Amino acid sequence: MNERVTNWAGNVVFGARRLQRPASVEQVAELVAAGGPLRVLGSGHSFNRMADTDGDLISLAGLPRIVEISPDRRSVRVDGGIRYGDLAVRLYEEGLALHNMASLPHISVAGAVATATHGSGVRNANLATAVSGLELIDGTGRLVTLTRDDPDLLGAVVGLGAPGIVTALTLDVVPAFELRQYVYDTVSRAAIDDHLAEMLADGYSVSLFTDWTGLGANHAWLKRAEPMAGEWFGARRADGPRHPVPGMPPVNSTDQSGDPGPWHTRLPHFRMEFTPSSGAELQSEWHVAAADGLAALDAVASVRERVAPVLQVCEIRAIAADELWLSPNYRRDSVALHFTWIADTEAVLPVVAELESRLAPLHPRAHWGKVFTTPPAVLAAEYERFGDFQDLVRRYDPAGTFRNRWLDTVLGGVQGKGDDLGG
Ligand SMILES: Cc1cc2nc3c(=O)[nH]c(=O)nc-3n(C[C@H](O)[C@H](O)[C@H](O)COP(=O)(O)OP(=O)(O)OC[C@H]3O[C@@H](n4cnc5c(N)ncnc54)[C@H](O)[C@@H]3O)c2cc1C
Repeated sequence: MNERVTNWAGNVVFGARRLQRPASVEQVAELVAAGGPLRVLGSGHSFNRMADTDGDLISLAGLPRIVEISPDRRSVRVDGGIRYGDLAVRLYEEGLALHNMASLPHISVAGAVATATHGSGVRNANLATAVSGLELIDGTGRLVTLTRDDPDLLGAVVGLGAPGIVTALTLDVVPAFELRQYVYDTVSRAAIDDHLAEMLADGYSVSLFTDWTGLGANHAWLKRAEPMAGEWFGARRADGPRHPVPGMPPVNSTDQSGDPGPWHTRLPHFRMEFTPSSGAELQSEWHVAAADGLAALDAVASVRERVAPVLQVCEIRAIAADELWLSPNYRRDSVALHFTWIADTEAVLPVVAELESRLAPLHPRAHWGKVFTTPPAVLAAEYERFGDFQDLVRRYDPAGTFRNRWLDTVLGGVQGKGDDLGG
């Protein structure tokens, strides 16, 4: 390929022979009909080789933008290349909202949904659960439309790009709402020990941030409708705006004044017009059952001397259970432990493996789009519907048009090691 295409983090240089930018769904179908291997690149915010291919990489960013609101105003149909930030502005103008957003608005809807991207909130399921319809070009070049009446939808939504190229999605929407955002400094480990579940439920969306140099949390971020006053579980209100990553400019973060504002200006931590997070980083994340949240914190604490030197920040969030076959939150209310690492794969991977072994008794499920080294057999065992997903992929892509080495490893087509899934 003449142009060097990397993921957002720069840790993956794609091995594709060409980057294709179709301008219509018909052109997407023609590319598939011409044969694989093919992969779609969303906005490239994943940290592993899941989007990689040695064939053609396809960007849907050039598809005509679609934002079609249903007559009953309960759903919106969007194209396969749109980003959450752009969609959110259009929905807000129409008096509508999504139920939640990730920490950043920069990501594509189709790519985020394919990896079960989530925000926080004990009553908020991940972003993929908003999908009520999918239009995809399968491996045979057929345009398939799935709705909630079709049992395959629950398997195809968190699809890792395997069943086909998603050219449009229909998402549930709700009336627009306002939220306030508050940040509190220094939450003690004793308070977390006594009140973790209460803390995570004390707002529409709650995140705790720690750098693991100590046992408590450095900050709590709360997004909620009701105003707050006084201390929060013994923590003091921050004396000015914060950035989740120590040392990064707070101006990149969303409003923390406590003033109410539109949902899409409070739910993400990062503003669309700035680089999210630190920009030089790797990320990992594991979901455990909500009831195991404290045990998971203990597991990390037991190796924090190894974690802290390669860590920028760790975020603890809550996600409600769902029915999507490959969702890390499948039938499990979850607590997720997210790690923003330094941008050094060699230094980070051994710590990732160590953390996975400490968390193993809690049956962690890794975020599909981040760095993990879980052996494929262990991965498969964590998902009750894994066999059904393998069958679905065989039906939708019998010739393996969308397969790559990462998928072969995950789906068990080759005797892969977990290392193949890492950075
Ligand atoms: C700074 C930062 C902050 C983040 N914060 C969060 C967070 O708060 N919560 C969270 O859960 N995750 C978070 N992530 C991870 C991110 O949401 C996921 O990696 C997500 O998949 C990114 O979407 P993308 O469009 O960039 O996907 P990509 O990385 O481009 O693609 C991901 C997968 O989806 C497939 N795909 C993309 N588009 C299509 C399509 N149209 N049809 C079929 N397959 C497709 C690709 O082939 C690939 O396999 C964060 C990442 C970064 C860099």
